[in-house]
Amino acid sequence: MTIHHGKGICPGIAFARAYFLQTPKPHHTLNTISPAEEWAAFVEAKTHAHKQLDSLKDQTGIIAAQALMLDDAEFNQTVHNIIMIEGLSAIQAVLRVGRHFSHILASSRNSYIHSRSTDVIDITQRLADTLSGHAQNYHLAGPTIIIAHDLAPSQVLQIDKTHIHGIILKGGAENSHAVILIKALGIPCIIQTDITAVNGKEIALDATAGLCYVEPDETTISALQQKQQTAATPQIPWPGNMRLLANISNETDLQAALQAGCDGVGLFRTEFAYLNRPTCPTEDELFAIYSYAAKAMKGKDLMIRTADFSSDKWPKFLCTHNTKNPAMGLRGVHVYIQHPQLLKTQLRAILRASAHGSVSVIFPMISSMRDVDHCKSALKATCQELSAKSIPVGIMIETPAAVLISDQLARKVDFFAIGTNDLTRYISAAGRQDNSPTSVLQLIAKASENAKLAGIKAYICGEIAANSQMTETLVSMGFDGLSVAPIYIPQLRGAT
Ligand code: PEP
Ligand code: MG
Repeated sequence: MTIHHGKGICPGIAFARAYFLQTPKPHHTLNTISPAEEWAAFVEAKTHAHKQLDSLKDQTGIIAAQALMLDDAEFNQTVHNIIMIEGLSAIQAVLRVGRHFSHILASSRNSYIHSRSTDVIDITQRLADTLSGHAQNYHLAGPTIIIAHDLAPSQVLQIDKTHIHGIILKGGAENSHAVILIKALGIPCIIQTDITAVNGKEIALDATAGLCYVEPDETTISALQQKQQTAATPQIPWPGNMRLLANISNETDLQAALQAGCDGVGLFRTEFAYLNRPTCPTEDELFAIYSYAAKAMKGKDLMIRTADFSSDKWPKFLCTHNTKNPAMGLRGVHVYIQHPQLLKTQLRAILRASAHGSVSVIFPMISSMRDVDHCKSALKATCQELSAKSIPVGIMIETPAAVLISDQLARKVDFFAIGTNDLTRYISAAGRQDNSPTSVLQLIAKASENAKLAGIKAYICGEIAANSQMTETLVSMGFDGLSVAPIYIPQLRGAT
């Protein structure tokens, strides 16, 4: 038996075999190897794609047509030129050439040729997925504990949930979006472990203690089984005037939140509906998601955050991410300024869904008054278009800039949703790691004070809200509520 230490981020105990999952590179990655190696990687990815297509043979001829495209001389020559002459990575070359050819086909009046443009997108995406390591098998044959260097949010969404008993990351950050999804699913998880190659071995994971046992002995197994029976103990009584809201990302979270008895949804992270698909969701698709949630809430508040795309949550169909410094690059509302239709579609869907429940909108990554004005005028215009009543407007306070001007921002909006995950990253320039630096507490105290002065509500929806050791401090700051992943609700509420 070997013992490995890590940081427990989602409590629980699990026993299963280990399965190593490769960490994908982002699609927008710059090339780090030579052009010749990039070209060789492209040729290898093509062989892999051919094998995948062979195993997918269909009656319609679509797969055969895609296989032909893979060998198209012009397609291959253009990719070659971009890699060799412009020095771009194989992924960038494939995506760029794919976009180029699909635009040409999409502009044809001939409906057959027009419809081939989606095949080009599909095949280039397949190549890009292979090149980036995204093309993996997420189907788990039996009870499994996933081991990975790190995971992307898109991977967490794809992993087969029926057999996943635990997750161990060698790296990982406690407030990363992948980890937030893992916590929402309630999967026992530890991060930052020193675990080495253990693929296929038996693992006992004690995520509550941040420990992992490889090939555990009988004594350890029975000690952990006993520990599994022990329930968490509450820290302080839950104050009646504070709302205990839920952070959700999808329908499963929504059901979990309702079952846990949330007072409302304080943060609906909607960007995950845009990942793992080649095209942007339509207004009707978004409306279906939001109206379902609004109805399910049966009158309780549903605060829908417009999609917050960031380097780790970047949809495949948007190819303009700032690759130089992804973590500080284009994010949240600033993406809408470049792609106004993205905001418009969301606002139309949200306003239509507001007819079915108590819906508010939250705008992410606000850092100036101009950002708020931009979003509010888009909302106003959309209300006019739909002849719809407006809805309460909230903003994420998650940049130090927003805290500094929170007195002015508070006069423009109906509520603040305070995002400590990003606030921590941007105030300490240290990734989404630390849970409670004093500087972050000072920032959130300032935002809370300015909200009170302006007579608007403020609640916390960063991961700090779920940390029961922080509850007393947060309560004393006078927030109107805390918004946490559904699994934490019974524990926090149980404190009454
Ligand atoms: C935050 O930054 O604290 C937050 C709630 O937003 P997200 O975790 O989705 O970035
Ligand atoms: Mg954030």
